[in-house]
Amino acid sequence: MIVKDAVCPFCGCLCDDIEVEVEEGRVVAVTNACELGTTKFMGEKRMKNPILRDGDRWKDITYDEAVRYAADVLLEAERPLLYGWSGTHGEAQCVGVHMAELIRGVIDNTSSVCHGPSILAIQEVGHPGCTLGVVKNRADLVIYWGSNPIDAHPRHLSRYTRYAEGFFLENAFRDRKVIVIDVRKTETANIADEFVQIRPGGDYAVLSALRAIVQGKADTIPRTVAGVTREQLVRVANLCMNAKFGAVYFGLGLTMTQGKYKNIRNAIELVSELSRHTKFTISAMRGHYNVYGSNEVNTWMTGYPFGIDFSRGIAFYNPGETTAVDILARKECDAALIVGSDPAAHFPRKCLEHLADIPVVQLDPYPNATTAFCNVQIPVAVTGIDAEGTAYRMDGVPIRTRKVLSTDYLSDEEVLARMYARMQEVLEQ
Ligand code: SF4
Repeated sequence: MIVKDAVCPFCGCLCDDIEVEVEEGRVVAVTNACELGTTKFMGEKRMKNPILRDGDRWKDITYDEAVRYAADVLLEAERPLLYGWSGTHGEAQCVGVHMAELIRGVIDNTSSVCHGPSILAIQEVGHPGCTLGVVKNRADLVIYWGSNPIDAHPRHLSRYTRYAEGFFLENAFRDRKVIVIDVRKTETANIADEFVQIRPGGDYAVLSALRAIVQGKADTIPRTVAGVTREQLVRVANLCMNAKFGAVYFGLGLTMTQGKYKNIRNAIELVSELSRHTKFTISAMRGHYNVYGSNEVNTWMTGYPFGIDFSRGIAFYNPGETTAVDILARKECDAALIVGSDPAAHFPRKCLEHLADIPVVQLDPYPNATTAFCNVQIPVAVTGIDAEGTAYRMDGVPIRTRKVLSTDYLSDEEVLARMYARMQEVLEQ
């Protein structure tokens, strides 16, 4: 069987032109996806059933036992943490928010350790963004700042920018300029028309210098700014002002380096100033599959995009206080539910030391680094492969993902709904 127009569940590009060949309940071939997406579709070594830690061994348990254990552990906790959510669908995220409210827990998603600062900047100054389709069809200048799509979002260049023909750009490679701004020469920089190498931590200064030039004050900036010559800055500013339509895509190299959300605020303000000369937009290169969706779902349900604390009975949000890393580092939470992420692979050691001391329940199809910290792991259907649902692309477009495999695994949404029902049952007793 061949499934056409499947949606890749790996990165925020959510490529929706994937062809998947399935034979005897297994994916045997994938067409159009990059290597990252193909590996995800072909994924093997899934867990067969839920497991419970029994001393230093694992014991197989049933789904009913696992759901009951998970629900009871979270209900008994005084300050449960519900973390992850970027690797699952909006429908499951929705149950997660209801659950956090029911048990007065904290719900946080992976954006608190990736584009959280970008969201703080957007809350302050707004987001002059657009869809990927608009960039593909109109942009004659694209800037990648602190991001390396060749490694992290491989088809961003071929579907939307460097190699993508657009309605108003018949020969994209010739007519569209690409500028890469980064602290080192990445593979994306090798295929750019202009590479601007910044000294680490110098992004804010370079953004300010570009703003000064765009405002007509080039003579006020020094001969070099964070390792970039004034001549190159003037050239880049002129390329931007002379473009018909420009798009900035920034990655964690801008949002998670010195300056953090101030960098993004400065970048958005540069884009606003450029829009007095021409049309310019800016967007984040969202990494994890449906991380954009986790911000959307949390926002339309609670008013806040991540790090939401229900301990007061209402939604409270204070990044740096109500975010997962801070709560774990302060040894505040006494149980954790992990869905659609692998914090043990990314979190600081101090957080993991606390995770090792508290009951942890994980919903994930595969054993991962967080499995070592779990009391229970419940294998689920792979979101976007054997579970369908809604995911948001990096430009905020919601896409209905397609199921390409039929398996007996429950989806995240189904397991969470069963846990939620069990919690309600206990609370009503
Ligand atoms: Fe999948 Fe991203 Fe590769 Fe597209 S670019 S195929 S969404 S991993």
